[in-house]
Amino acid sequence: FNVPIAINEPVKSYAPGTPERDAVLKAYNTMYNSTIDVPLYINGQDVITGNTRTMSPPHDHKHVVGTYHLAEKSHIDDAIATALEARKTWSKMPWEQRAAIFLKAAELVAGPYRYKINAATMIAQSKNIFQAEIDAACELVDFLRFNVQYMTEIYSDQPKSTSDAWNRVEYRPLEGFTYAVTPFNFTAIAGNLPACMALMGNVVVWKPSDSQIYSAKVIMDIFEEAGVPPGVINVVFGDPVMITNTVLASPDFSGLHFTGSTFIFKELWKQIGSNIHNYKTYPRIVGETGGKDFIMAHKSANPKQVTTAIIRGAFEFQGQKCSAASRAYIPKSIWSDVKKQIIEDVKSFKIGSPADMSNFITAVIHEASFDKLAKYIDQTKVDADVEIIVGGGYDKSKGYFIEPTVIVTTNPKYTTMCTELFGPVITIYVYEDDAYAETLKLVDETSDYALTGAILATDRYAITQATDMLQNSAGNFYINDKCTGAVVGQQPFGGARASGTNDKAGSAQNLLRWVSPRLIKETF
Ligand code: GLU
Repeated sequence: FNVPIAINEPVKSYAPGTPERDAVLKAYNTMYNSTIDVPLYINGQDVITGNTRTMSPPHDHKHVVGTYHLAEKSHIDDAIATALEARKTWSKMPWEQRAAIFLKAAELVAGPYRYKINAATMIAQSKNIFQAEIDAACELVDFLRFNVQYMTEIYSDQPKSTSDAWNRVEYRPLEGFTYAVTPFNFTAIAGNLPACMALMGNVVVWKPSDSQIYSAKVIMDIFEEAGVPPGVINVVFGDPVMITNTVLASPDFSGLHFTGSTFIFKELWKQIGSNIHNYKTYPRIVGETGGKDFIMAHKSANPKQVTTAIIRGAFEFQGQKCSAASRAYIPKSIWSDVKKQIIEDVKSFKIGSPADMSNFITAVIHEASFDKLAKYIDQTKVDADVEIIVGGGYDKSKGYFIEPTVIVTTNPKYTTMCTELFGPVITIYVYEDDAYAETLKLVDETSDYALTGAILATDRYAITQATDMLQNSAGNFYINDKCTGAVVGQQPFGGARASGTNDKAGSAQNLLRWVSPRLIKETF
């Protein structure tokens, strides 16, 4: 299949004086100082329900940037009906045309919409420009481009034929409609989940996170402009229980593509199970959920490299990544160097609004997240076996700001070593140098989640030992790097255990979940 070769979208620098810096600030200021109204999007039409909620940036929660409309049950029924209607033509459309639509969407993100989608992500999800660029611009473009390549890899996987029998596989879309439930933390993931299912010929009801609606609106505008036909992707907001109940009650529900919390994913899975007799097909269930990702250092590791892995892994994106480093295991012999450097680095970070480009840390997503983080931080201030070595402050008077916080514990099973907090907090356990194997065992035993992890060492045997003993503790395992920053087309991303079904985002394996192959044997 001769499709354009997928390349990773180059990341722009936004250095002072660059045109991109001026352009994104202009977009940010314009959008920040006006308001938008976001309707539902069903059958290619804006649907105004009149029942609205306001949207505010997490870094300035009293400031209103718009409203969005909440669906009634009848709107969800309409979204399902319209998707099923659209399926009649979309599922039969030549794949080249579907591919062309999403390749066009990629170029719209990379070009005319770049600053708008970045600004929307800075406003809605409080990402600084460097984070927004990596996520909303580059990663979304990468997903859209690489998906087309993966689709052709799938289509070209054909069985052997003989001289009198032609065996061929048709990669049909799932029968029915699919449901995308997407998170706030990556605009790229929010766009990719509905897009990759639609690319494979499916029709979609998409429920974005309430905290990502501003940037979801930009994505939908892009999809529409790229030529996604009415009814193929329908966007709904509102009471998640009502939306999910309505979607999962439909006999035509055929697949769930989910990124979000472990708890909700399990609830949805249970609900699908209890409805199983109503469905026309066994629904596909794909989920990427939580993480409690680790950095394990060996005594042979370079302390500077360990510090960088901790700092970048834990605090970039305010730690609001499923892959963020939230626990680390450091040998005693390098601890004083690592500790000194961590404290120095963290103290140098500026915290505040993404509009000020020198801020490294911005706000966490909402009050519930802020309160949860503050509660765990406060608890460490009273517990005996822990100490905060830097950070520990928080303030929600204007925005939901949590200081990057480093906790050190003498108890490797302390709550913050095991519980996912989803914020800029990491807990470190210092181990005796000669307890390396024992500590690896401990890391695995405390990995209820198994999304990402990293080993830092120069000793080859230590690397081999960690790779072996931590075989099931992470779906993405990094050697001498941080445990974050998977790039589409390079590091397919996903984990097992409580972290998800490990149907790697950014891979043919993921797209295969959205087709139901038909084998055709023809004899002559
Ligand atoms: N792909 C991202 C990374 O490796 C994380 C995605 C997520 O947080 O869900 O950093």
